[in-house]
Amino acid sequence: MIEKIKLDLFKLKSKKDLESIYHFFKKSTSKWFNNNQSPKDEFFYIRKCPLCNSDTSKEAFKIDGFSYHECSYCNSLYTKPHLRDGVLDALYSDGTYQVYQDNLVKKGKEIRKGVLEERKFFQIKKFINKNSDPALLDIGCGSGTFLDVCKQNGWNVEGVDPSPTVSQTVLENYNIKVHQGDFNKIKFNKTFDIITLWGVLEHISDPIATIKKAKELLNNDGMVIFEVPSADCFISEYLKKNNFSPTRYIESGRHNIFFSKKVISQFAEKFNLKIEYLETNGLDIQTILLEEFENETTDKIINIQDTLNDLLLGDHYRVFMRK
Ligand SMILES: [Zn+2]
Repeated sequence: MIEKIKLDLFKLKSKKDLESIYHFFKKSTSKWFNNNQSPKDEFFYIRKCPLCNSDTSKEAFKIDGFSYHECSYCNSLYTKPHLRDGVLDALYSDGTYQVYQDNLVKKGKEIRKGVLEERKFFQIKKFINKNSDPALLDIGCGSGTFLDVCKQNGWNVEGVDPSPTVSQTVLENYNIKVHQGDFNKIKFNKTFDIITLWGVLEHISDPIATIKKAKELLNNDGMVIFEVPSADCFISEYLKKNNFSPTRYIESGRHNIFFSKKVISQFAEKFNLKIEYLETNGLDIQTILLEEFENETTDKIINIQDTLNDLLLGDHYRVFMRK
């Protein structure tokens, strides 16, 4: 198996940028709540578990007014009440968010491309038993860096993204086709060997429909690969006992679905997909501490995180499923 990455959160994102985007969200989302912190009906509704449709749950923790419930059936975590469709889009649409987001990712740009995106490519390559160049679709492709790494290695790649500016810039920068719009509504006239969703499923209202459609677009023996925040990780257990508002992982209402290992297995069973490999990549400890230390201590923290990842307790799951 490919070597795991040992990441330093503060080499990817500075503490200052993490804090400023956090405060932007905290300020922007405050209008969704009444003075007594209770959620306003015009922005929220009560829903069943978005991952298994069960309606029994109990509150696991409450952060910035959002109540996170643990589903009694699949052990996933989700906000209850849940934000209505379109509320977050309205927050993004005025462009302010993008300024913070650009600052946040600027620092780690080189590491992101050179380490993270390349590792994704080599990791996927190990699972592909094909003589010709595979066809890959990346849903929520953003800047297109991952698509470009795959293209440079000879793969046939396309992307999907809801943003019109993204499809334009990815075409201009990398000459890669990006379907603009909602993946669940787009009609494709071809099938793929690999479909990837990096940090996408937790942001959409119907992840089950998305997995279903991805499977339909896969060739036989093809793979769907996704990365999602974990409900089983160290930081979620920590939050149940120690209430605070982490600058990442929760992201103040932006992350409102967290996947359990149990629901990932249920997905595989429901759609008749085989889980070939599962790992966690987390930054739990640095997210809790949110402080920079001298090298020796930082190395120890990164090694503790590495052990947590070995135990599948890191804050994001990366899942490889085969059709
Ligand atoms: Zn559930």
